[in-house]
Amino acid sequence: MREYDLLVGGESPSAAEQTTVKDPASNQPVSHVTRADETDVAFAVESASEAFETWREVDPTTRSQYLMDIAEGLRDKQDHIAQRHTEETGRSVTDSKRSVEFAAEYFEYYAGLTHQIKGETVPLSTGEFDFTKCEPLGVTGHIIPWNSPLLLASRSIAPALACGNTVVAKPAELAPMAVMELGKVAHDAGLPDGVLNMVPGEGTIAGEALVTDKRVNELTFTGSKEVGFHIRETVSDRLIPLNLELGGKSPNIVFDDADLEAAAEGAVKLFNNAGQSCYAGTRLFVADEIYDAFIERVVDRIERMTVAKDPNETDVSALISPSAQSEVDAYVESALEAGATVTTGGCIPFEDGNFYEPTLIEDAPDDAAVSCEEIFGPVLTAYRFESEREVVERANDTEYGLYAGVWTTDLERANRIAGHIEAGTVTVNNYASPIPQAPFPAYKQSGAGSEYATAALRHYTKVKNVRMAVDKTLR
Ligand code: NAD
Repeated sequence: MREYDLLVGGESPSAAEQTTVKDPASNQPVSHVTRADETDVAFAVESASEAFETWREVDPTTRSQYLMDIAEGLRDKQDHIAQRHTEETGRSVTDSKRSVEFAAEYFEYYAGLTHQIKGETVPLSTGEFDFTKCEPLGVTGHIIPWNSPLLLASRSIAPALACGNTVVAKPAELAPMAVMELGKVAHDAGLPDGVLNMVPGEGTIAGEALVTDKRVNELTFTGSKEVGFHIRETVSDRLIPLNLELGGKSPNIVFDDADLEAAAEGAVKLFNNAGQSCYAGTRLFVADEIYDAFIERVVDRIERMTVAKDPNETDVSALISPSAQSEVDAYVESALEAGATVTTGGCIPFEDGNFYEPTLIEDAPDDAAVSCEEIFGPVLTAYRFESEREVVERANDTEYGLYAGVWTTDLERANRIAGHIEAGTVTVNNYASPIPQAPFPAYKQSGAGSEYATAALRHYTKVKNVRMAVDKTLR
């Protein structure tokens, strides 16, 4: 059994309590992870506060080199970290290796931007010189979910460090190992003590302690809408930047002129990570003229998917926990009660492990729970539509606004739809995953703040304006 302790101030203290991490494919224990309490979190914040005083002064070239070294360390330990990622998330080793690679790319991307964290000069009348600079915020708190833990930790930790902040990160209790491995890699890369601290533990204890600690000057939270809103309430008496990356209920719209093979492939991308992805295209809108033929293609693909207990054999991995499996099953039940049809799937295939069959639901009313709420499981719901205006209205009829897909060979139409869809990202003819170079904004209840791309550099810094009186007279 693997053991993980806290990573605080360059040390690995253990605490009295431990969490047992279980493999979702078998529910067998795979590791014991020290569970941080309020005192541990306070100590981590103190370490991060102390380290900030020197880290903020580290020049951009050196900071960049640290980030590059972390990227290299992740790649060197790719097999080991991917194995831990697979054990805790149930995803295939190939998938987990890809996550390690993406994590490394985040560190490289922000390593390349440390010299771009800069201000501007402001032209003023003679006798004055005005310039701005971007200063780090101080201690930043990062609360991480279990669904893609390493990648999501890296996407906020890398820019926070690049900007000269220090970090206290709280990995999710269900999947902390790969994030703890990132902490070890950073330590081995020589990152100064206290710059990156890891406090695995429960949300209501370690998470809450991080959120309420007034020495924390920024919070990045990725997770459910409920907890995100709770955090916003909790910090409402402090004017700190908040990055909330919450849920989604993304539309994926297929027009009659689309490349149907490509669109069908795009539709079943939902089943990656068993549908446990914030930007998954969960609501499939198909033009009436092609609906039956297109759904046939999608069903054919779904029915060819393997569901197997071996994470390296299965196309649809296990859900994170038994309770997640029951919730997905309850959603499918509720769809039947609402008059919908389960076209394929809809069952728990094995007694052990948290698997759920890839499922397609048709004829669900637009106001059914499966049509409105984030299921976070391998469940796709399909709907017919007749016109652009109608589909845009229905696609937007959700509290979320994270992502959307449009499939059409008419680029004018694609542009019209992209202009009217209320989502932070609209993908056209390619339901592509987020990448570090492009922003990943959130509309409506899907979040507030800005991860990815150069937007993250603005989030993790504050602007200072310096206005100087200058005497330009030659002497
Ligand atoms: P969750 O909200 O249950 O937990 C997320 C994290 O918050 C965990 O580390 C948890 O321990 C912590 N937490 C829980 N209660 C807390 C509290 N009171 N105070 C502080 N921290 C607390 O979410 P989850 O089930 O782990 O993740 C799935 C959700 O995350 C889905 O809704 C998904 O859409 C969303 N998500 C969003 C994005 C995005 O970029 N928008 C990416 C991935 C996941």
